[in-house]
Amino acid sequence: MVVGASLAGMRAAESLRSEGFAGELAVVGAEGHLPYDRPPLSKQFLQGTWDRARIALRSEERLGALGLDLRLGAVAADLDPVGHLVHLSDGDELAYDGLVVATGAAPRTLPGSEGLTWVHVLRTLDDAESLRSAFAQGAQRMVVVGAGFIGSEVASSCRAMGMDVTVVEALEVPLSGVLGEQMGRVCADLHQENGVELVTGVGVVGFEEPEVGSRRIRLSDGRLLPADVAVVGIGVTPATSWLEGSGLEVANGVHCDGRLFAAPDVVVAGDVANWLDEATGDRVRIEHWTNAAEQGVLAGRNLLSGSSDAAPYDAVPYFWSDVYGSKIQVLGRPGPDDQVVVVHGSTGEKRFVALYERRGRLSGVLGFSSPRQVMSMRAQLVSQARFDEALAAFT
Ligand SMILES: Cc1cc2nc3c(=O)[nH]c(=O)nc-3n(C[C@H](O)[C@H](O)[C@H](O)COP(=O)(O)OP(=O)(O)OC[C@H]3O[C@@H](n4cnc5c(N)ncnc54)[C@H](O)[C@@H]3O)c2cc1C
Repeated sequence: MVVGASLAGMRAAESLRSEGFAGELAVVGAEGHLPYDRPPLSKQFLQGTWDRARIALRSEERLGALGLDLRLGAVAADLDPVGHLVHLSDGDELAYDGLVVATGAAPRTLPGSEGLTWVHVLRTLDDAESLRSAFAQGAQRMVVVGAGFIGSEVASSCRAMGMDVTVVEALEVPLSGVLGEQMGRVCADLHQENGVELVTGVGVVGFEEPEVGSRRIRLSDGRLLPADVAVVGIGVTPATSWLEGSGLEVANGVHCDGRLFAAPDVVVAGDVANWLDEATGDRVRIEHWTNAAEQGVLAGRNLLSGSSDAAPYDAVPYFWSDVYGSKIQVLGRPGPDDQVVVVHGSTGEKRFVALYERRGRLSGVLGFSSPRQVMSMRAQLVSQARFDEALAAFT
């Protein structure tokens, strides 16, 4: 059985089938929609250039060929790993021999935003459609809270639609906690060069609607930002509440080993997985598309082979983001305190590649609109190359 009918869960189901599992395969998903892809929600779908059909994860024909017991709109409420049972919130219970946990993550919210129809988050198709209907009703002033990748993409999409956009970020330099200060400043410039007002180093302390049609956001420095609509993009929390009391270890995701096993018959994949990196001994959780896809495939395969024959998860992390016409790509695990060397192009032109160095090794690669050059460094990350060797290998 698979719980979570999105990217990681569907990849796991496909992998179970392609590895020869011909038994009953239930896939339980809380959302009522057929599985769809999330990245376009903040990009083409939000801008209205792609429709629902375009973001389907698989065609209905391909889904049908998998022979799944696809239970959409069904919420797993509780796991009994001893009895091998998943209880659904509607009272149904499903037995399993092997279980894939792929419940992803849910957006964090800010206190005071509960019940306000003009303050949105963006995780699901329903969230994106609700935002689109606010746009259709003529929203012009958008405030985005959080200048991470999702917030930046929402800002970029809203600018592309001609809206006035303000981005509020608690850090002094956006994304500096991920990419370091130097590259965070490049991301800040990108907002400003595209006509977005970027307010940094302040928090949001309230959402106010003093009278009908008058909406504003109160900042920690006392400023008030008028808004028609707001999106809060301040990160996500792994969806693990249904596993409380199950005996599985849950802390910032579901703990699993380097082969994705949380128990002998339970594997974990995607945004919800907190796995042990066997090479470094670190616990890792990643919230990106490629990780969810690759872990889903491996989780299905490992569940079938059993833990003694299972392969470790050792993929090089990768993600991309599309903002203001720039394709931002990150390979590896750059850290905020790493040394950064620009090896191609120029940051001013927003077309460049930067290599990150930590303890003499290549730790990550950041590219703006330079996909070929970024991907050419993959082998260096796989082999954990010395930084001087990586520099010499850069083409
Ligand atoms: C707007 C947006 C844009 C993105 N853009 C990019 C991008 O450009 N590049 C990139 O690398 N990544 C991007 N991502 C991240 C990427 O989409 C995620 O990493 C990926 O979707 C994770 O897949 P997942 O299957 O692990 O989890 P999810 O996609 O979160 O799916 C988990 C599913 O499980 C369901 N579920 C949760 N709890 C239960 C329960 N108790 N019972 C039943 N079902 C349950 C949820 O409803 C959900 O459908 C983006 C994400 C968003 C939201």
